[in-house]
Amino acid sequence: MRDEKSSEEGGPMRTKNVWFTERNDNIALSLKHDGKLYEQESEFQKVEVYKTFAYGNMLTLDGMVMTTEKDEYVYHEMISHVPMQTHPDPKRVLIIGGGDGGTAREILKYEQLEEVVMVEIDEKVVEASKEFLPSIAASFDHPKLNLKIEDGIKYVNEAADESFDIVLVDSTDPVGPGEGLFTAEFYTQVHRILKKDGIMVTQSESPRFNEKVFVEIYDCYRGIFGKENVHCYLVHIPTYPTGMWSFSYSAKGDCSPKQVQEKAQALLPSFDLNYYNPEIHQAAFVLPNFVQKMIQPK
Ligand code: SAM
Repeated sequence: MRDEKSSEEGGPMRTKNVWFTERNDNIALSLKHDGKLYEQESEFQKVEVYKTFAYGNMLTLDGMVMTTEKDEYVYHEMISHVPMQTHPDPKRVLIIGGGDGGTAREILKYEQLEEVVMVEIDEKVVEASKEFLPSIAASFDHPKLNLKIEDGIKYVNEAADESFDIVLVDSTDPVGPGEGLFTAEFYTQVHRILKKDGIMVTQSESPRFNEKVFVEIYDCYRGIFGKENVHCYLVHIPTYPTGMWSFSYSAKGDCSPKQVQEKAQALLPSFDLNYYNPEIHQAAFVLPNFVQKMIQPK
C-alpha cells in the first residue's frame, strides 16, 4: 500500500521516493519509505507501520514516530536498564504503555523479577508490533509478563499501595490517550503504588521539540517526589524530532540514579546491549547548561 497523503513529492507515486513527515509548528522530521505495511484506525489513534529505507520498519501513532527497528534500542535500553541497575532488589515492575514490546523485552532480561505487568490501552499497537516489528515485540510470550489491555490511568488508580518496585511510563506524547499520563494526579498515584525504595522513570519528551511540556513536568515530578529526588537524563534518538530526548528518574526513597548495584552490573555482558553501558549511565545524567537552566528547581 502507498501513502499518497504523506508524500511530499506530489504528482504520480514513485516507488522509492515517498516521505513520511512528522512535524510540529516549526520543526519537521522526514523519512523516506517504501510503502505502508499496516494501517488501522483504532478506538484511540491511527496506528501505522512504514517500511523506511534508513531505519527499517517504523511504528507511528497519529503521525508521530514511536519506534523503528534500527534505533529502538536507545529508548528501550535507557528507559529500562537505568532503574534496573540502580534499584537494590526489584521484584515487580509496571510498564504503562509500551505496546511495541521493547521495554518489556529489556526488563525481562533480569531473571530475578517475579512479575512484569504491562498496561497498554491499544491492542492494535501490540498487534501491529507483533506482525511487523518482531525483533522489538520479542517477549510477549514470556511467562513473567502479565499484559493487560486497558487504560493505564485506571489500572494505577486501582492498584494497591506500595505494590511495585519500579514503574516505567513508556507513553505517547500528551495528546489523545496519553494526555492523562502527564498530570499531577497520575504521578501522585504512581508515587502511592511504589514501594518505599521505588523508582519511577518516564519518557519526558524533548527539551528542544516539546519545551513547554518538558519544563512543566519536571516541576510536577518535584512537587510529588521532592526536589532532591528528581533527575533528568538525556539520550540521542535519530528518529525523534531534534534527536535529543529525555527521561525522568524519580525516587520515592533514596535510590540514587548514579549508584549502580554491583550484582546488576555483573549481568550486563550477558544482555548483548547496543547502547547502555555503565559509562553511558553516568554520562546521561550530565546535562548541557541550557537544559539545566530549563529545569532548575525554583
Ligand atoms: N517510544 C515511544 C515514544 O516516546 O515515542 C512511546 C512508545 S508507544 C509504544 C506508547 C504507548 O502508550 C502506545 O502504544 C499507546 O497506545 C500507549 N498509551 C497511551 N496512553 C495510554 C494509557 N492511558 N494507558 C495505557 N497505554 C497508553
